[in-house]
Amino acid sequence: MSQAENPAPTLFIDGEWVPAADGRTREIHCPANGELVVTVDEAGPGDAERAIAAARRAFDDGAWAATSPWERGDLLLRVGDILVRDKAEFARAESLDTGKRLVESEYDMDDIAACLRYFGKIAGTDAGRIVATGSPDAISRVQYEPVGVCAMITPWNYPLLQVAWKVAPAIAAGDTFVLKPSELTPSTAILLMRALSEAGLPAGVGNLVLGTGAEVGSVLAEHPDVDLVSFTGGLHTGRKISAAAAATVKKVALELGGKNPNVVFADADFETAVDYALMAVFLHSGQVCSAGARLIVQDELHDALVDEIVRRAELIRIGGPFDEDAETGPLISAAHLEKVDDYVAKSVAGGAVLRTGGRRPEGERYAAGHYYLPTVLDEVNQGSYAVTEESFGPVLTVERFTDEDDAVRIANDTHYGLAGAVFTGDPGKAQRVANRLRHGTVWINDFHPYLPQAEWGGFKQSGIGRELGRAGLGEYQEAKHVYQNLRPAPQNWFSGK
Ligand code: NAD
Repeated sequence: MSQAENPAPTLFIDGEWVPAADGRTREIHCPANGELVVTVDEAGPGDAERAIAAARRAFDDGAWAATSPWERGDLLLRVGDILVRDKAEFARAESLDTGKRLVESEYDMDDIAACLRYFGKIAGTDAGRIVATGSPDAISRVQYEPVGVCAMITPWNYPLLQVAWKVAPAIAAGDTFVLKPSELTPSTAILLMRALSEAGLPAGVGNLVLGTGAEVGSVLAEHPDVDLVSFTGGLHTGRKISAAAAATVKKVALELGGKNPNVVFADADFETAVDYALMAVFLHSGQVCSAGARLIVQDELHDALVDEIVRRAELIRIGGPFDEDAETGPLISAAHLEKVDDYVAKSVAGGAVLRTGGRRPEGERYAAGHYYLPTVLDEVNQGSYAVTEESFGPVLTVERFTDEDDAVRIANDTHYGLAGAVFTGDPGKAQRVANRLRHGTVWINDFHPYLPQAEWGGFKQSGIGRELGRAGLGEYQEAKHVYQNLRPAPQNWFSGK
């Protein structure tokens, strides 16, 4: 894309690329060096209204929902092929917007293609079920139908991945949609809409509005013509969206933050535990909803493990997306960097011991980017700010536990419940702890893998509903019960006398 020099319209409404009604634009700058990446159109409430109207018409005329699920599945497979064909362009755009290493964006594109293929292949494989009526004179079935017009509001950390988790099941189900990606990372959503167009998505079925949450997202959450709002982002925004959606009782799916425990028992393999603890929290500079930000370590292992994590954290090489030497990149924005720094300051004020990091890296090469050093906060107090709040940055907090019960109690002592891990050499203990963790995903002797065919989502305040897997398709469907009386005759419930 070379919109920086010659902007083409970037809102996609009713099958057309259009500018914002009031002509506003937004510049996207690379978080790694501040350079201009692209200028995109900045939608306002009126553009959101137009996009919703287009999606409503495309749903209500019935043609899209009446296409066969295999046709819609094939379309997703074609989009997956286009993504693979254009992977270099997609990955580069993702890295420029987010500052993340190119290789990580490439992995993301592989994951997105897998997600598109998964939903492409399961479209139509489960239309519903026959339900026993208990009577020879009645038959009954439950059938799955599209929910209608879906609004999708997504964050900046895995921009296209979070979008794909919503768009793919919505298309498989026969919904129409309006997508609003994060205003900070619009580029790959634009590329996806192009790919959907190329693959043959009918006009109005998929619409893209770029803009802020306050101006565009809030319209999507409130609008009476939207049937479902699916949101991925922070807890506080999720609460606002839930409240906004309540007025029209629209369906709400929320994928929110996490404060994810990484429980390490003394019998875990030491090198493996160190390696995964680092990857769990410092991958993508901690800007991962499932980041293993809380290391919960058995007392007797604490000193050795934390010393080694600190030593290795100080060796992590930071750099821009195309710096082949770099192992992790910048934070998304100056505002986010300030938030992370403020989190560290408040945590230290609350008693945490700063073992390393807690500041920006020094040196000219970091001056124009939003870089922050991998940070370790030891001996944090349970219930303190450091433990309850999500930093969404490269910050690891350390707590100690005594035994299995203590580990589970501490790991569950959070209002979040997105993901967690347990590291131990004892398979029975691993299973016991995994069963007791109140988190939507639990890894044993691993961290971060997810599968398109396995549900993803949060317990407690980490969200409502699930993405991926069968349930991820179910979010975009309504279940309808159809009952037929095979021997219609008056029942004389009311006698008529
Ligand atoms: P955010 O909540 O600030 O923004 C997310 C999206 O919501 C953006 O598109 C934004 O424009 C929009 N938005 C903001 N205010 C809005 C409003 N009032 N009404 C409607 N839309 C509004 O989140 P972020 O900073 O972009 O992303 C980071 C957060 O996302 C973290 O908390 C992270 O844990 C979470 N996250 C969760 C998952 C998951 O799968 N559970 C995945 C990725 C990120």
